[in-house]
Amino acid sequence: MVYGLDIGGSKLELSIFDAELTLLKRWRMNTPTSGYAEFLQAIKQQIVIADAFVAQAMLGQPAADAEQVMLKTPLGIALPGVQLDNGLLVSSNIQYLNHQAVMLDLIRLLQRPVAIGNDCRLFALSEATFGAGRQCQRMLGVVLGTGAGAGFCVDGRLISGPQGLAGEFGHQSIAARVVAKHQLPLFQCGCGLVGCVESYISGSGLARLYQHFGGVVACTHQWLEAFRLQQVAAVRAFDCFIDALGAALAAQVLAYEPGIIVLGGGLSEIDEITKELPQALARHLFTGICLPEIATAEFGATSGGRGAAIVALQHLQVCAYTQNH
Ligand SMILES: [Zn+2]
Repeated sequence: MVYGLDIGGSKLELSIFDAELTLLKRWRMNTPTSGYAEFLQAIKQQIVIADAFVAQAMLGQPAADAEQVMLKTPLGIALPGVQLDNGLLVSSNIQYLNHQAVMLDLIRLLQRPVAIGNDCRLFALSEATFGAGRQCQRMLGVVLGTGAGAGFCVDGRLISGPQGLAGEFGHQSIAARVVAKHQLPLFQCGCGLVGCVESYISGSGLARLYQHFGGVVACTHQWLEAFRLQQVAAVRAFDCFIDALGAALAAQVLAYEPGIIVLGGGLSEIDEITKELPQALARHLFTGICLPEIATAEFGATSGGRGAAIVALQHLQVCAYTQNH
């Protein structure tokens, strides 16, 4: 068995899979808000619960097997941020995780193999392996949630650099032609730069655009309600948002030329966005070229945990290979 833990800004979701990645059990809890120590303890508590489930499932099997599973059930974690070579996490929107050696601390605390990956990259891996991208050789998985990020897979394999940066397109600049057309200010991004495209095309970015065009300080749900009532500020925010998103994804098409773009995250569940996106994308590319198919995630919000489990199993294979050679 293998555990996949998806860590988001507001929720943690722990999934237990068998070795064929069939989901056996899954539950959610709120992401701790008070700090890193509480975060580590919360994960430990969830792993104790998961181990008890695994022990129960192993009842009736030889005791030696059960003991082995108890000790060794590996854990894969999908979280926002990038793990540097020195093991420290940066660029996470869960602030207390930044500059912490999350993976090493969890290996020590949980006494088992732990693998960590960026949530957007693992979403892409999951959808490329089992989900909406499995039929397509070149697949770009794009998550539009609290932030915006992507992962690119070829033949079901994640293409990632040594620092795992490839796909971090949310921190590329918003296209100049979009800024000029909609007379936009350059918003400050949490990463320290200004004008990052994530500040316009994520859920919080859309809410910020709504406010910029005269709407109230709102969340995405309030924007959507106003948009469906055709309120002027909400419509202007959408026009600008979809133009910025089209331009941002056109840049990814020029970089990777995916056959399919699989969308995940909360914004991918809004039909108006997925319906309008192909035309918005086409407006920022040369006429006559073949556009990639645009699809939504097959595993939806649970793809991160599945991707985490895949990376935990791959990590184990690498460890076994290294030990045997
Ligand atoms: Zn940024």
